[in-house]
Amino acid sequence: MTRIVNFSAGPALLPEEVLARAGDEMLDWHGSGMCVMEMSHRGKEFISIAAEAEHDLRELLAVPAHYKVLFLQGGATLQFAQVPMNLLAGRGKADYVITGEWSKKAAKEAAAHCEVAIAATSEDRRFRCAPPQDEWRVGADAAYLHYCSNETIGGVEFHWVPDTGAVTLVADASSHILSRPLEVSRFGLIYAGAQKNIGPAGLTIVVVREDLMGRAARGTPTVMDYKLQADADSMLNTPATYSIYIAGLVFKWLKQLGGLAEMERRNVAKAKLLYDYLDASGFYRNPVEPRDRSRMNVPFTLADAKLDDAFLKGAAERGMVQLKGHRSVGGMRASIYNAMPMEGVQRLVDYLKEFERRHG
Ligand SMILES: *Cc1c(COP(=O)(O)O)cnc(C)c1O
Repeated sequence: MTRIVNFSAGPALLPEEVLARAGDEMLDWHGSGMCVMEMSHRGKEFISIAAEAEHDLRELLAVPAHYKVLFLQGGATLQFAQVPMNLLAGRGKADYVITGEWSKKAAKEAAAHCEVAIAATSEDRRFRCAPPQDEWRVGADAAYLHYCSNETIGGVEFHWVPDTGAVTLVADASSHILSRPLEVSRFGLIYAGAQKNIGPAGLTIVVVREDLMGRAARGTPTVMDYKLQADADSMLNTPATYSIYIAGLVFKWLKQLGGLAEMERRNVAKAKLLYDYLDASGFYRNPVEPRDRSRMNVPFTLADAKLDDAFLKGAAERGMVQLKGHRSVGGMRASIYNAMPMEGVQRLVDYLKEFERRHG
């Protein structure tokens, strides 16, 4: 068996140890005689799996006691609507910071529910940076401020937590959650689709401060009401059971490695290896302001776009896939999430060198 080096932005690679363990437990989870997929979500086996996953996630992120952790469905995209439906609480306005494709989509969806004020944007700089805090205009009357803390497509990451004063801070952290420690208490709500840095698609994680719940807009579907989901331990209806199980194994894997501080150390080293090479070469280019570059998603272009196909073909021949950039920006993108080992990044850098030697 040969495992490919998968640079997909999502669904993305998972730790091999996690997949191997899931394989071992496939037919008989812990003597239950069942696969986790076959279990009742109301049974004691699955209840224990979900409780342990929540416990481990709370420990990894050091989630304070007055926050709820929800295991939901519908992806980060559903949160684009669910956040305003739950957090507006009768107010007519929310602030959005626009730093790329995902924050734009979030703002567009919110506009169906309230007036959207753009508190800051980097669109005038072609989304190549995170707008510095002194440019932000946070509205005192905004119900919350939403931003995307890591733009998966553009490769722009906030390496700082914005200060929004009394206004509730909401983050779409889909593509870098668990890649570094996070000061949860600075946020009102953090959400993330699982398929980037946590586990399989189908699971969305929401961490929300308790006092923000319970004021959903009239007509909010029950499964989209944070308070009702929290009261039902995220099991108002059937949750994404197998995705929660795999996410739980990923949490154990992270704990075993030493938690998020250790993960951050590894991610910094991986990103440095790749960016240092891109910057030193005259052939490849990453367009993002160095201080705002993502450790998770690294877009880059070749000196001549006519070489793109040859580059991708050569990569595939060397066992490296999903390097094509998002259709909206072109070029290449290497996503190097938690589960990407240093050896995978080294293999990519070796190939970048080889390709540059041949075509540069
Ligand atoms: C992938 C992604 C989304 C969309 O996630 P879905 O689960 O497909 O809805 C939203 N925001 C960010 C930052 C993402 O990376």
